[in-house]
Amino acid sequence: APHLAPSRQDAPRLSPVKLFEERPNGKQRLWVPKRILVTRSAAGSEIAKHAAERGAALGAEIIHLKGDQVRGLRGETEVETYRRAKSTLAIVNAPPSALKLQPIPPSADFRLDLAVGCPAHCQYCYLAGSLQGPPVTRAYANLDEILSVLPSYLGQGRITSRSDARSHEGTTFEASCYTDPLGIEHLTGSLSRTIEHFASWNREGAEAGLRFTTKYAEVEPLLALDHGGRTRVRFSVNAEAITRRFEGGTAPLQDRLHAMGRLARAGYPVGLTIAPIMPIQDWPEAYGDLFRKAAAELPQDADVTAELITHRFTPGSREVLMGWYPATKLEMDPAVRAQKRNKFGGVKYVYPKELMGEMKAWFASAVAEHLPNAQLLYWT
Ligand code: SF4
Repeated sequence: APHLAPSRQDAPRLSPVKLFEERPNGKQRLWVPKRILVTRSAAGSEIAKHAAERGAALGAEIIHLKGDQVRGLRGETEVETYRRAKSTLAIVNAPPSALKLQPIPPSADFRLDLAVGCPAHCQYCYLAGSLQGPPVTRAYANLDEILSVLPSYLGQGRITSRSDARSHEGTTFEASCYTDPLGIEHLTGSLSRTIEHFASWNREGAEAGLRFTTKYAEVEPLLALDHGGRTRVRFSVNAEAITRRFEGGTAPLQDRLHAMGRLARAGYPVGLTIAPIMPIQDWPEAYGDLFRKAAAELPQDADVTAELITHRFTPGSREVLMGWYPATKLEMDPAVRAQKRNKFGGVKYVYPKELMGEMKAWFASAVAEHLPNAQLLYWT
């Protein structure tokens, strides 16, 4: 009977590392790009070799490019371009601009990019409108060079210079401004190396903290690292209905919260990034439920922070998102929003002032009630 012969897909893949765990429903937890493009100048790097080896074991096609340009991802339509780009990982060297770190308040002092682009499919994606070209994930291969620029930023940041509850973290570097570093870690390994770098750098006398946010949950490789307590891992979470509806390709909410608890028990400072907060129907119940679930996963003595970010969009991000997700049910209606202008005159659409005030007060008391040890870092 033909069904007794294993098909090629059913055959076990041989791999030197334990690459993925199966969910009970058989869904794979880790992102597997269809193709991994390795640019010419990144080809000799440890990260490129690692990604090619792991990607091939997972079934990705590995393509070595003759040059350094990542091309050929445009399709006939925006949606097709989006699909192609989102199923591609490119291994490239960080451009010189990535070696000049930008301030990134209120999250951290400086932005530290290990990659740009992300494998998830959030319909409100923060990257929409801020990335050039198709949304391919580009992981940086020249990690040593990136890490080598950090010392010149010590003591320089705006957050560092405040003497508040965060000052013991030293100068902080945020690794998830333009990517989800845990979402690609099984392919690149660069996050683990960076976490260990911060631990050893602090032992040598630096006062510096690494931070990143994730919507993934595969924290197993991070648990055993020598992290020195210098990396704060925040989990980007939301009301269950929002994560289910709008956050394609990410780990389920409960898995993220469970992963947060595991890291806290392994001594990592952790955090909740609740974003983007939306006043959906019965929002106090929906977010109350989130806080209860989060509190249930955390050990008593967890070092935990909370960052609260309401949903916003710009005319540019709205246009890009409508191209990527033409059928989205996400509310992006300027008519029901208030306008906020930045110092360069750009417009952002946020919730009206009164609603913002109501939500802000509710969230502050919910944090105090459910996570009494948590430091609330900001509301925006
Ligand atoms: Fe965009 Fe962040 Fe979602 Fe990735 S995880 S798709 S960067 S919003």
